[in-house]
Amino acid sequence: MVVVADYHMHTKLSGDSKNDLESIVLKAISIGLKEIAITDHGPAHSGFGVKKSEYVKLRSKIDQLNEKYPQINILLGLEANLLGTDGEIDIDSEMWEIIDWVNAGYHFGSNLSKDFDLHLINLLSKFSKKYYKLAKANNTKSMVNAMRKNKINMLTHPGAKGPIDVDEVAKVAAEVGTLLEINNSHGHLTVEEIKIAMRYPVKFAVCSDAHNIENVGNVSGALDRAYIAGVDGSMIYNVEPKGEIK
Ligand SMILES: [Zn+2]
Ligand SMILES: [Zn+2]
Repeated sequence: MVVVADYHMHTKLSGDSKNDLESIVLKAISIGLKEIAITDHGPAHSGFGVKKSEYVKLRSKIDQLNEKYPQINILLGLEANLLGTDGEIDIDSEMWEIIDWVNAGYHFGSNLSKDFDLHLINLLSKFSKKYYKLAKANNTKSMVNAMRKNKINMLTHPGAKGPIDVDEVAKVAAEVGTLLEINNSHGHLTVEEIKIAMRYPVKFAVCSDAHNIENVGNVSGALDRAYIAGVDGSMIYNVEPKGEIK
C-alpha cells in the first residue's frame, strides 16, 4: 500500500514555514505523489496567516505549476481557522471562488480579539476540570457547526490544540463527508481517538502538515497509528490500493 497524496503542507506564505512552492512540488513528484494540496494558514491567524492578496496570486502560480508538471495535480488549499463556536471559518467569498481544497482546524493564534473566550477556556482547561468540560463542549461545537455550514474537505489535527468529543465530531464528519486527519506532525488523531471515530463510516487521511521540504509526504507515524488502531486501507482516502495496511 502506498500513499498517493498529501493534503496538508505549508509554504513560506505561512509565517511558520520557509518552503518554496516549486521545491515542494519537486519533492512531492520525487516521492511519487500524484496529488498535493497547498494549505497555508488562513488569514485570521495572527502570527502565521497568509495575506489575502498573496493568496489570490497563489492561484495563478499553482495553475502555472500544474502546466509545467503534468505528472502531479496541485490543489490550491487553505488551512482555515475555526473562529468561535458558530461554525465561522476565515474564507471569504472571493477565496471560495478560487479554492480547490479546504482544511479547517483550531489554532491558538487565530483572531485573538474575536476568539479570546475560546482560547482562554482552552488554556484554563489544562488546570481545571470545569474548564476542561467547557472547552471540550466549545471545541466540539465549533467543529460540528463549521462542518455543517461549510464544505470542508478535511478537519486538521482534531483534538491537538484542545479537547474534543471525538464521537460527536466523527458522527457529523461521516454524515457530511469531511475527512478526519491523522496528522503526522501532531499526535492527533491518537490511536484511541481513531478507534472511537471508527464507530462511524468516516474516512481518514494521513497527512504530513509539512513545514519543511523533507517532511512533504512523510506520513509514516500517522500510518503507524492507523495500523495500531486497526484501520483498513479502504478507510484512508489517500492510499492505494485500498485494503489492509501492511
Ligand atoms: Zn494546524
Ligand atoms: Zn498545518
